[in-house]
Amino acid sequence: MNALTPHPLLSARAGAFIAGKHQLLIGGSWRDAASGETIDIEDPCTGQVIAKVAAGARADVDLAVAAARQALDGPWGKMSGLERGKLISRFATRLEELAGELAEIEAIDCGKPVTYARYVDVGLSANTYHYMAGWASKITGETVDVSSPGEFHAFTTREPVGVVAQVVPWNFPLVLTAYKLAPSLAAGCTAIIKPAELTPLSTLRLAQIAEEVGFPPGVINVITGYGATAGAALAEHPGIDKIAFTGSTDVGKAVARAATGNLKRVTLELGGKAPMMVFRDADLEKTIPALAGAIFFHQGQVCTAGTRLFIHKSIHDRVVEGIAAEAKKLVIGHGLEQATTMGPMISGRQRDRVLAYIEQGRKSGAEFVCGGNSLGENGYFLEPTVLAGTDSSMSVVREEIFGPVLCTMAFGDDDIETLADKANETEFGLSASIWTRDLSTAHKMAKRIKAGSIWINMHNFFDPALPFGGYKQSGWGREQGAEAIRTFTEVKSVCAAL
Ligand code: NAD
Repeated sequence: MNALTPHPLLSARAGAFIAGKHQLLIGGSWRDAASGETIDIEDPCTGQVIAKVAAGARADVDLAVAAARQALDGPWGKMSGLERGKLISRFATRLEELAGELAEIEAIDCGKPVTYARYVDVGLSANTYHYMAGWASKITGETVDVSSPGEFHAFTTREPVGVVAQVVPWNFPLVLTAYKLAPSLAAGCTAIIKPAELTPLSTLRLAQIAEEVGFPPGVINVITGYGATAGAALAEHPGIDKIAFTGSTDVGKAVARAATGNLKRVTLELGGKAPMMVFRDADLEKTIPALAGAIFFHQGQVCTAGTRLFIHKSIHDRVVEGIAAEAKKLVIGHGLEQATTMGPMISGRQRDRVLAYIEQGRKSGAEFVCGGNSLGENGYFLEPTVLAGTDSSMSVVREEIFGPVLCTMAFGDDDIETLADKANETEFGLSASIWTRDLSTAHKMAKRIKAGSIWINMHNFFDPALPFGGYKQSGWGREQGAEAIRTFTEVKSVCAAL
């Protein structure tokens, strides 16, 4: 296959989109970056360049901010919540109609199995827009009974926070954009989306669909580009009222620092190192495949991936062997092949980073149950890897690897406080799962784990109604649910002396 020749497994529609010209969307017009520069986009399954996108930077961000401000002050700012909701709903329905094409784009750009992309990436995104469409007409304030002497009529209103920058990583471009764009549109904000430089294609298609369903020009703008240029320009721009960021903890901290210039509102969805705790009474027939899925889904490139597995010593070997057997069943291949259940790492850099962690695990004495090597000549494939006998002194247990590497640890008849302390021994606090048939154990643990999402007898469960976000260095604020609407609005108190 030549560079820029559509992959033979792509449908004509997805192939034509990917082979087309990819520009920035600013104020309703598609244009090249002011610099004229572009970024090569690779298929991580082959390492071949499949597209070129505009490399937007500061000058383009300035134009997008002006366009987003103009749209906010224009008809969009005056549109009723009900009308905004109808538009968001129409958008969600159109995404469902185009699910096949969007899934192919996401699969080839991110290296994920197309069947998963359809149900997880497109499905959860569309549901998020549907859910948030309903909120658009239900954003209200409260009447407040003030206690000062005199007679007053006091109430609060919620107003859109304004122009919002939305910066997204490469692992779930459609979903993590939906988490930001859907509530921001429901709240009446305007958006400047910056997808990751590695995976911008589905966001560009999303923006075309938004235009087609009738969002006014400037309400949704897309600046593709590098983090250090386009992303940094958004984070520090004085014309932006809020930045909603998902990505690594280090970059999240840089974004928070840059945002202090105009004290723009900041929400951060950052890294994770989720513990999974399996008690001796867990239903192992269901639990073992689910644990394997929790770490190997999207090659472990998931902020909530179950990476630290605590297993009761009486069932430790059976669980570990079971997970290794599940790993063998994975069909590793090109995401566009229907049978594929596991794709590659997003890039050569990410593959090498994960291999370096595996090497550190080897040096620090972890026991290799399976995996540990890269695979194939082309693309960035890695074996699913299970390391047993690990502990919190090892970097593989402490740091976010963002790859298909599971670290297991046995626990004895410790009290739940001791186990909770071990599970909480991390700078992150995004998610955790508890596996037991005992309701009391499950809820006692759920109370003690310091993380934003706790799953009982499941892992990686997401729903538009459930708030999602992190404790500790996993972030600030929550996406999804009613919480998301709050983060895209400002509260105004109005008080009249009667
Ligand atoms: P990253 O932080 O390198 O990049 C994320 C985004 O930020 C990209 O769009 C990038 O271009 C941009 N960026 C980079 N430097 C920037 C800067 N100085 N200013 C502004 N923007 C900048 O992260 P990544 O490697 O793309 O993604 C992996 C990370 O994302 C992991 O740490 C993972 O845990 C995290 N993540 C978190 C969640 C969550 O919801 N908590 C979800 C998915 C991924």
